[in-house]
Amino acid sequence: MRTSKREELVDITEQVQGVVTQAGVREGVCWLFVPHTTAAITINENADPSVRVDILEHLRRLVPATEHYRHTEGNADAHIKTVLVGNSLWVPIVNGRLRLGTWQGIFLCEFDGPRTRKVWVEVTERQRVADGK
Ligand code: ZN
Repeated sequence: MRTSKREELVDITEQVQGVVTQAGVREGVCWLFVPHTTAAITINENADPSVRVDILEHLRRLVPATEHYRHTEGNADAHIKTVLVGNSLWVPIVNGRLRLGTWQGIFLCEFDGPRTRKVWVEVTERQRVADGK
């Protein structure tokens, strides 16, 4: 996917649900992995868009872009924000749907865009373990 700003939280919940639907898994786990060093993935509120703005503004205060860094590519802040947010997560699948909380959505977190980003999605079906009886 193509991000459009230097920093943004992109709601990818529907695309991820599309992968789960296509995989045909009814009960299991959806694993998400972002193979980048300046983009991350998280779950948070997708009802009020101002939550996304608050998250980005607060991360900017925690990790200022203008601080002195040894990494001179100009994106040291983006690397650190990625460490704070994380590169992977998982979501339960129940009845073929991502089992998210009412207000939750899945967000790709862009910290050094605009760029083309990948999210690797792996869907595994729950194994039923016989109890031996
Ligand atoms: Zn860099």
